[in-house]
Amino acid sequence: MDFQYWQPEIEKMPRAQLEALQLQKLKEEIGFALRTSFYKERLSKAGINSADDIKTLDDLKRISFTAKNDLRDGFPYGFLSIPKEEVIRLHSSSGTTGIPTTIYFTKDDIKRWSNYMARCIYGTGCTKSDVFQNMITYGLFTGGLGFHQGGEEVGMLVIPAGPGNTTRQFKMMQDYGTTVLHATPSFLLHLETKMKEAGVKRESLSLKRAFAGAEPYSEDTRRRIEALLKVDVYNSYGLSEMNGPGVAFECQCKEGLHIWEDGYITEIINPDTLEPVKEGETGELVLTILCREATPLFRYRTRDLTSFYTEPCKCGRTHRRLHRITGRSDDMLIINGVNVFPSQIEEVIMSMKEVGNNYLIVVEKDGALDRLTVKTEVSAGIFMDDTRPLNALKEKIKETLQASISISPKVELHESGSLPVTEGKAVRVKDTRPKDV
Ligand code: ADP
Ligand code: ZN
Repeated sequence: MDFQYWQPEIEKMPRAQLEALQLQKLKEEIGFALRTSFYKERLSKAGINSADDIKTLDDLKRISFTAKNDLRDGFPYGFLSIPKEEVIRLHSSSGTTGIPTTIYFTKDDIKRWSNYMARCIYGTGCTKSDVFQNMITYGLFTGGLGFHQGGEEVGMLVIPAGPGNTTRQFKMMQDYGTTVLHATPSFLLHLETKMKEAGVKRESLSLKRAFAGAEPYSEDTRRRIEALLKVDVYNSYGLSEMNGPGVAFECQCKEGLHIWEDGYITEIINPDTLEPVKEGETGELVLTILCREATPLFRYRTRDLTSFYTEPCKCGRTHRRLHRITGRSDDMLIINGVNVFPSQIEEVIMSMKEVGNNYLIVVEKDGALDRLTVKTEVSAGIFMDDTRPLNALKEKIKETLQASISISPKVELHESGSLPVTEGKAVRVKDTRPKDV
C-alpha cells in the first residue's frame, strides 16, 4: 500500500526524539498553566512554580488528575491562561453526561488543531481533489468546525452540510460529486436505510471514504457500513476538552487509532485504583494536551475505555495506536447484578445480517427485578407479516446475548427505518429505573 503522510518527519519520528519533543512542549504548557487561576494553585501544591521544575516526562505524574468536575468548577474562566482579547473562539462539549464544559482557543491554537485534523484526513488517502460532505453538527460541538478546518487545510472542497435531511444530502452528493463523508456511525447507517427508501442508486454517487466517530461502534458496524455504502470507513476519536476530533484517527491499515503523541501525552489507568494498567490492558484513557495555549489541561480523565496496541503499525508511523473505544466507564449498566456495556450488545446484534440498521436498549424495573429489552430493526428484505423468520430471529438474538452477556433479554423487532433517529450522537440506551440517591 502507498501510504501518504501530512508531516512525515513528525509522524514517523523515532520514539526517543518524540519523547524529547513531548518534554519540550510539556514545559511550554506548564508555563501557560501557571497563568490560570486553577493550575496556579494546583501546580504550586505539587511544588511546580516554573517550567524548569519539570525535568522529565515522569514529572507530569506529580500533578493530580483533572476531572470533568474541575472544569465545571472552574467555569467560565478558571482555566483561561491568556487575556480574553487573545481568545478567538470557544467550544463546548455536547453535555451527554451533564453540564457542558468550555474550552478556549487562540489563533495559533486553531491553526494547530486544523493541522492535526489535516494529518488525520490526509493519512486516509484523501487529497485536494476530494469533495468532502461534512454531515455532522456545526456550532458549539467541535465535530463540525474541526473537520471543516482540517478538510480545507488539506485543500479539499468542503461542503458544510450539517446533519439531517437525507433527501438534501443525497442531492448534494449527486450535484457536487461528493467523495468523502463525515458523520456519526448511526447517521451513516440511517443514510443507507433512507437511500434504499428513496431509490437512490449507489452508482449515481462517487463516494470513496467515510469518517465515522463521536460515539462508540463495533468492528461489525464498521464492516456493515462499508458493505452497504461501499466506502472505506475510518474511525475518528476526540473530545471537546482535547480540542475535539483530531486526537486519534485510523490510518489506511485500519487497525487501531494513532494518537498524535506530539500533541497529547497518553496514559491508561485502572479507574478504581488510578494506577497505570499493564501495557496492552484495557483501562481509562487519561490525556494531557500539548498543543493548546489558551486552555491547558493536564492528566484529564476522559472516562473512555481503551487499550494500547503493543506492536508498531505497518504504516511506519511511530505514534502509538489505541483500540477502538468501547464506551465510557460510566456507560456500564448493572442489570440484576450483572455488568453489561451497551457495546457488548451492539457487537452481538450488528453481526447478524437479518438485523437492520438501528437499535435501542431499554432497561426498566419489573417489580423488584430489572428488565432488559433489546429493540432492533430488521433488515430491509424482511417483512413484518412473515412471523416464522421473525420468531427464529428473536430466538437467535436471545440465545446469542444469553451466551455473551449472561442475560436473556426481551427482544422486540421493528420494521426497517422505524426506530427513532437523533441528530448528533445516537441515544442507544433508555434506562428508566429510579436512580439511587
Ligand atoms: P460529551 O462528553 O458531552 O459527549 P464531546 O462532544 O466532547 O462531549 O464527546 C466526546 C466523547 O465522545 C468522547 O469522550 C467519547 O466518549 C465519545 N467518542 C468520540 N469519538 C468516539 C469514537 N470514535 N469512538 C467511541 N467514542 C467516541
Ligand atoms: Zn498506521
